[in-house]
Amino acid sequence: MRMVDIITKKRDGKELSEEEIRFFVKGYTDGSIPDYQASAFTMAIIFKGMTKSEIVTLTDAMEHSGDVVDLSSIKGVKVDKHSTGGVGDKTSLVLGPLVASCGAKLAKMSGRGLGHTGGTLDKMESIPGMSIAISGDRFLKQVQDVGMAIVGQTGDLVPADKKLYALRDVTGTVESIPLIASSIMSKKLASGSETILLDVKFGSGAFMKNIDDARTLAKTMVSIGDGLKRDTRAILTDMEQPLGLAVGNALEVKEAIATLKGHGPKDLVELCLTAGSIMLEQAKICKTQEEGRILLEKKIANGEAFEKLCQFVEAQGGDVSYIRNPEKFVISKIIKDVMSKEDGHISKIDCLEIGESAMRLGAGRATMQDKIDMSAGIILNKKVGDAVKKGEKLCTIYTNVANYEEVMEDIRKSFKISKVEIKVPPIVHEYIR
Ligand code: URA
Repeated sequence: MRMVDIITKKRDGKELSEEEIRFFVKGYTDGSIPDYQASAFTMAIIFKGMTKSEIVTLTDAMEHSGDVVDLSSIKGVKVDKHSTGGVGDKTSLVLGPLVASCGAKLAKMSGRGLGHTGGTLDKMESIPGMSIAISGDRFLKQVQDVGMAIVGQTGDLVPADKKLYALRDVTGTVESIPLIASSIMSKKLASGSETILLDVKFGSGAFMKNIDDARTLAKTMVSIGDGLKRDTRAILTDMEQPLGLAVGNALEVKEAIATLKGHGPKDLVELCLTAGSIMLEQAKICKTQEEGRILLEKKIANGEAFEKLCQFVEAQGGDVSYIRNPEKFVISKIIKDVMSKEDGHISKIDCLEIGESAMRLGAGRATMQDKIDMSAGIILNKKVGDAVKKGEKLCTIYTNVANYEEVMEDIRKSFKISKVEIKVPPIVHEYIR
């Protein structure tokens, strides 16, 4: 088999065989297929697309290009969820303890933040002592005993994707639904859970800018899961404004704590209850999502979900006194309010701008080498649909950087104010299975 023939076949819009796709993934991973052929091939996929069976084969070949996590020693249904990333997305820190307190086993590998989006691992590290790198045996034992663990990627998982994603990034071939879907799903499948819930976000703060593209991606990923016999479902959720009120690492952990104690912002609570009830149905802990929602609400009300967060933090070496007394978290030196210059109703909050502003305040990194200020970020006082008066607080910034005033001005401009009333948008738009 020759790679040039596979490239020309795809270039001419023909369907590749299973052998041809596996030949490419193996050859590119072991280095026998060079970057220039891989980039011509991915460019052909950009223009000609892939059939469902090609995408399933590509995902399966990538999943098995390296280590695959074996969770079979853990009793109970192993569940996972994946968010395509956004601003203020602390869902895993709420959802994990919630579903684990109901008996689900969450064995999760997470990532770090880059640019305007945050990462769960960074948020976890704002808790003193918290470790995101634990041994494989300890990971399995913790999931069994505590019901959840969240760690950075271990082992040599999906090396094909590592190479291919880096290549796509510099050859203009990221924006292809078959390539994005196979990239995300190969990593989720290799992480070993029996069920996967995908939170596919759309909007200015998301990877997918509109709901139609998000839906296509979600459906493609669900069909990959079906093709590879893994219970995979998806929700399409709004990222036109930040999720919840807090953006920034320690600030978001505090919001996650408040949410587990029953004082969470409406959109975050709704997202966690919807996602959690689907996960409980997938785990067969509840027969219906309605039953799941009632159980989750009970676990918040009786304090068991919050206690699960404490157990999880303690198991990964974190100082639980911060969870029980969130006022202990380090606070920024500069705390300033951003005020509205007019009366009206919030019609839009530019989510990308808020994410980038939080990064400029110190909460995120522009390159992987940058250091994060765990205390920095933004707390929104207004969300889309809220009424606002001139001189009223839109949000508060927390920072230690000197040039915060120019960031404050950009943040103020990211709030769009209308004279007419605005309907509050739903957080979960669609459920796909
Ligand atoms: N995220 C991924 O993991 N892969 C892609 O291709 C795009 C986004």
